[in-house]
Amino acid sequence: MSANPSPTLPTAEQLRAEVREWLARNWTGLSKSEDPWSSSPERIAWLEKVVDEGYAVPTYPTEWFGRGYPTDLAAVIVKEFTAVKAPGAGQDKYNIPANTTLKLGSDALKHQLLRDFLVERARTCLLYSEPGAGSDLAGVRTTAIKHGDHWVVNGQKVWTSGAKTADYALLIARTDWDAPKHKGLSFFLLPMKQPGIDIRPLVQITGESHFNEVFITDATVPDENLLGGEGNGWRSLQTALAYERSIMGDTGRTSRNRSRADDLIALAREHGRLDDPAVRRRLAKVLAMRELNALNNARAKAATTQGTSSSIMSLGKLAMSRILHGEARMKTELIGAQALLSGSDNPEADDVNFLALNAFFTSIGGGTDQIQRNIIGERVLGLPKEPEADRDIPFRQARRS
Ligand SMILES: Cc1cc2nc3c(=O)[nH]c(=O)nc-3n(C[C@H](O)[C@H](O)[C@H](O)COP(=O)(O)OP(=O)(O)OC[C@H]3O[C@@H](n4cnc5c(N)ncnc54)[C@H](O)[C@@H]3O)c2cc1C
Repeated sequence: MSANPSPTLPTAEQLRAEVREWLARNWTGLSKSEDPWSSSPERIAWLEKVVDEGYAVPTYPTEWFGRGYPTDLAAVIVKEFTAVKAPGAGQDKYNIPANTTLKLGSDALKHQLLRDFLVERARTCLLYSEPGAGSDLAGVRTTAIKHGDHWVVNGQKVWTSGAKTADYALLIARTDWDAPKHKGLSFFLLPMKQPGIDIRPLVQITGESHFNEVFITDATVPDENLLGGEGNGWRSLQTALAYERSIMGDTGRTSRNRSRADDLIALAREHGRLDDPAVRRRLAKVLAMRELNALNNARAKAATTQGTSSSIMSLGKLAMSRILHGEARMKTELIGAQALLSGSDNPEADDVNFLALNAFFTSIGGGTDQIQRNIIGERVLGLPKEPEADRDIPFRQARRS
């Protein structure tokens, strides 16, 4: 029996029984197969229910759709939802725009957008990377200039996942060219459905086309959509990046065909390799890494409060990158020459190839493995910082690629 930490909170057992009973009464499944880049009215209606019940973001305060629960109670809800494959719980972990708005937005902005983010009425994308500023994100040149009660934005972003379906973007832009590069930045929630936003799709290595170039010409953003205050963009961005790295450290996309290739052990058995001692050793290593990373992530999250710590989340993201590449290599080896096939006629090989290519999503997106190693070296291990010649001079004078 777990101890009840406060008389106003349920015990884990009470909460588990409550959630099970609620799901039994309300969850009948969603009829359509889900497109991750848009939300069906049926899905939105379900999410409305989850939000109203306080299950979407139980660690949020009660005035913002939460229950003021600690993370261990929130995990009870997620576990019950996961058991019946119901979406919508655990958004206090994975909903980047909602978490960032809760932490950095004004009350007016929270009233305007928080619920829409939680029920997926408002979709978002991340306007961070630029052709000359990926790893060196503080070098962005997209510029926002204040005009009265709004800002006018000009510039170009690239690799923007989900831009075509997004209603809002988390945008990092330069608001002061005379300040040093990290200090002249501000962070905004930019409305995407407006003239001046030109979105051009790019084809990925997997053959999918989820990310885009985004050209911004005189687009506007209200002053109230500034997150974390003018000139504090770098710090605000770190908050949002920590949420992103925490998600990427927890999960990785499995497959597109949902074939047997999803399950490493089943795949090894299917191909008659489960008794091979060398295969078993490597299998155990990959599975142990997954388990260890899950425990490490749980520990990191328990040790940090809302807002998380970017440096700790870097460890999980780096580990997940290793896990996904390791699993993909192992699966390729297990299916052997069949890995030369692809397409829906060969779902197993197609999934394995997809995994091998998609593993780069986690090792590049959200900051590359090398950048995570730099963060861990500097902020976790206390190693000397990389030399940065342009850190303290006005950005206008910095050498740019
Ligand atoms: C699937 C996917 C989805 C993405 N979605 C988005 C999105 O929605 N929004 C968005 O803004 N961006 C997105 N990105 C972009 C991603 O964040 C950048 O690609 C990433 O930060 C690297 O930047 P870059 O591509 O400019 O590479 P570069 O910064 O040019 O890096 C090139 C190589 O140099 C290495 N390197 C660079 N600097 C250092 C250093 N200081 N120390 C050691 N090594 C270094 C890098 O690790 C890398 O191997 C996405 C990327 C992918 C792959």
